Amino acid sequence: METMTSQDRATRAWRILDAAGARHTMARGLVIDVLAETDGHLSVAAIHEKVAASRPEVNVSTVHRTVNFLVERGVAHVLPWPGEALFGLNESPHVHAICEGCGRHFELPASDLGKAVAEARRHSGLELGATGMALIGRCQDCA
Ligand SMILES: [Zn+2]
Ligand SMILES: [Zn+2]
Repeated sequence: METMTSQDRATRAWRILDAAGARHTMARGLVIDVLAETDGHLSVAAIHEKVAASRPEVNVSTVHRTVNFLVERGVAHVLPWPGEALFGLNESPHVHAICEGCGRHFELPASDLGKAVAEARRHSGLELGATGMALIGRCQDCA
């Protein structure tokens, strides 16, 4: 898989937003930077904590609104899991492997499941999106 720096990841997110004519606001820039620097997914509270470290004037409801905006615009996705919503930037399609015991989650590139994804497409016509799919089970600690 290609390796992207956090700067590349942020630039890519902005390219999508710019194409949609979205305004550059401070909150959007900060939230994108936090997500771009994160491997995996973060809750709104965790994003806010990182944003507020440098910009305490940005409140949690602004962060909430901003991540939802990024999801609507196809820049970010929410982890398909019923617990606290966790957000990540959209990159190459990936699979979320989630432990139903402790909620720990891992990301696998969809290419690792190439055959399963191809079969799913063949049977359902479904094209795997950036949110990918979820494998739900128990991790070694919880098994
Ligand atoms: Zn994800
Ligand atoms: Zn677990």
